[in-house]
Amino acid sequence: LRGVVAMDGPSGTGKSTVARRLASTLGAGYLDTGAMYRAATLSVLRARVDVTDAEMTATVVERMRLEISDEPGVAAVHLDGEDVAVEIRGPEVTTAVSAVSAVPRVRELLCDQQRAIIERVLDDRGGIVVEGRDIGTVVAPDAELKVYLTASPDARARRRATQDGRLSTVDAVLADVERRDRLDSSRAAAPLRRADDAIELDTTALDVDGVLAALLSNVDE
Ligand code: C5P
Repeated sequence: LRGVVAMDGPSGTGKSTVARRLASTLGAGYLDTGAMYRAATLSVLRARVDVTDAEMTATVVERMRLEISDEPGVAAVHLDGEDVAVEIRGPEVTTAVSAVSAVPRVRELLCDQQRAIIERVLDDRGGIVVEGRDIGTVVAPDAELKVYLTASPDARARRRATQDGRLSTVDAVLADVERRDRLDSSRAAAPLRRADDAIELDTTALDVDGVLAALLSNVDE
């Protein structure tokens, strides 16, 4: 792969699993931008700042030190030197992340970091798969390939319920997934939407290998 593959879509579409597998298969780098918004949210929660206070939230995010793995096989995320890869998947962060990611200044700061990482990985290894909500529309509008994954709400809730042991029932997960979609799609700054030139793929009836095969047919390896 030469260049960027942008993978966007709501949560529970299998995006992360597919993006990592695609990056490994292509020998490319990988960036999970959702993990960056989650780490930013954790730093705001730890600072005991109210996530509805945009100015204070942005100040915390400006000061945090964030390092994230660009290897598809390594999930490490370090916040101020501490590995927080597990904690950022917990319910506290998941509940607060949409509010933090709606703050325009937070998006600006993280987009700058994301573009810097993308540049570095492109220099090092020529290709990178980047997943998030605004990669094809804002972070990497010139990506070689843009993919927008969808799936039925039920399939998405089931996937998330198996991934996330702490949110117990499929119904609870479904409510959370739908709440986050609503917030992510309706915010003013870089709302979740499909880029006009993205390939849309419905993963409801596909397993990971099926999605991967569909994507690989669109990429120059
Ligand atoms: O992908 P993941 O579910 O971990 O993302 C967590 C949250 O981070 C999303 O619900 C969204 O609010 C935010 N996000 C974003 N832009 C991105 C990636 C994630 O706003 N590029």
